[in-house]
Amino acid sequence: MLAADADQSRPNDLDAFWMPFTANRAFRKRPRIVSRAKDMHYETPDGQKILDSASGLWCCNAGHARRPIVEAIQAQAAELDYAPSFQYGHPKAFTLAARLAAMAPGDLDHVFFANSGSEAVDTALKIALAYHVAKGEGTRTRLIGRERGYHGVGFGGISVGGIVTNRKRFGTLLSGVDHLPATYNRDEQAFTRGEPEWGAHLAGELERIVALHDASTVAAVIVEPMAGSTGVLPPPKGYLRALRSICDKYGILLIFDEVITGFGRLGASFAAERFGVQPDMIVFAKAVTSGTVPMGGVLVSKPIHDAFMTGPEHMVELFHGYTYSAHPLAVAAGLATLDLYRDEGLFERARELEPAFADAAMALKNLSGVLDIRTIGLVAGIDLQGHADQPGKRGFEAIERGFHNEGIMMRVTGDTLAITPPLIISEAQIAELFEKTAAVIKATA
Ligand code: PLP
Repeated sequence: MLAADADQSRPNDLDAFWMPFTANRAFRKRPRIVSRAKDMHYETPDGQKILDSASGLWCCNAGHARRPIVEAIQAQAAELDYAPSFQYGHPKAFTLAARLAAMAPGDLDHVFFANSGSEAVDTALKIALAYHVAKGEGTRTRLIGRERGYHGVGFGGISVGGIVTNRKRFGTLLSGVDHLPATYNRDEQAFTRGEPEWGAHLAGELERIVALHDASTVAAVIVEPMAGSTGVLPPPKGYLRALRSICDKYGILLIFDEVITGFGRLGASFAAERFGVQPDMIVFAKAVTSGTVPMGGVLVSKPIHDAFMTGPEHMVELFHGYTYSAHPLAVAAGLATLDLYRDEGLFERARELEPAFADAAMALKNLSGVLDIRTIGLVAGIDLQGHADQPGKRGFEAIERGFHNEGIMMRVTGDTLAITPPLIISEAQIAELFEKTAAVIKATA
């Protein structure tokens, strides 16, 4: 219990909150607590500034506590706090859907709203399965993911996902799932900027998987255009295009999970645009509201959407949705966020900063124990040599050291650092960010 007179921003009992994806016991011994944020920084209850190298969790692309977004959320709470999206609507939900559809490439003209990336992934997988049923091809039930893929933590997402720790304790998962191989090979790709030259041939594995199961049983392929949570793996040149053409050949839907690549991270609205490959659905979340209010969703192509719009008009066409789909606060935050991205040219800014950002990241190449650095957009992945027989220990030390000693928040998977700052970062802050990162790498060697 908090003491009655305790400052609420300084909790004195850390026991009740079972923290997600966190080493809870270590955290309780040496907590890392932030109680405020503005622009590029968090602040601890003691007033220490913490540079945000991770946009929170790949969310806050517009930076923190941006006034237009804050004001839009405040005004919305007073105007319309909640409205159901089952059989009723509110105007801004339609406006946001239209804005997102206009931003998305090609015929991705329809938006199904959820509240997180995980929900949005499961939504996309369900739409894919139901689409084939609607088309009279109900034998297409198989879903294909990729090794090292991350698609959130729902049962659908962990089934198509390929991160072993996220799967192995949770039973048998969805049946009828297969996986493409991961696209990373350090011997062939180390220290690449942008898309690696090597690896497009791995898309050909989809041919093998289709031959094994027969195309008539395969519903969809889902991939992150750039794998993020597994440690930043940009797609090999030509890989996504090759996946697209194999999917076309066999009538398989291609889903891009753009939960972290959407909204400017790679210098474009979506990775699909940057890589010039048109998927049948795009899954988004996180930066759609710059992380301010939970929101996720799926951009769906017109032919998929239209395939559902049959039968008696009083009938529900898709038996799926969430109480908080298109929640008014999330929608208001989304609209204000899209305005800010546009007005400040933040996607273009990410593209302009990309070379300087890559230079600053690659300058860490010769530090002790740096095994690889990969950069694309405003993203850098840095693989560190782990401590012998203790995978993830050095990564954990980097989190602690970064926060307590260097004043930086770092996103780490295993012993890999993922640097993904808000798109408002200045060149001076890029230099500061990589100085702090270098200090963390040296201190944990
Ligand atoms: N998909 C991808 C590619 C992600 O990176 C994430 C989260 O990092 C998710 C899905 C899950 O999103 P959420 O944590 O909002 O459920």
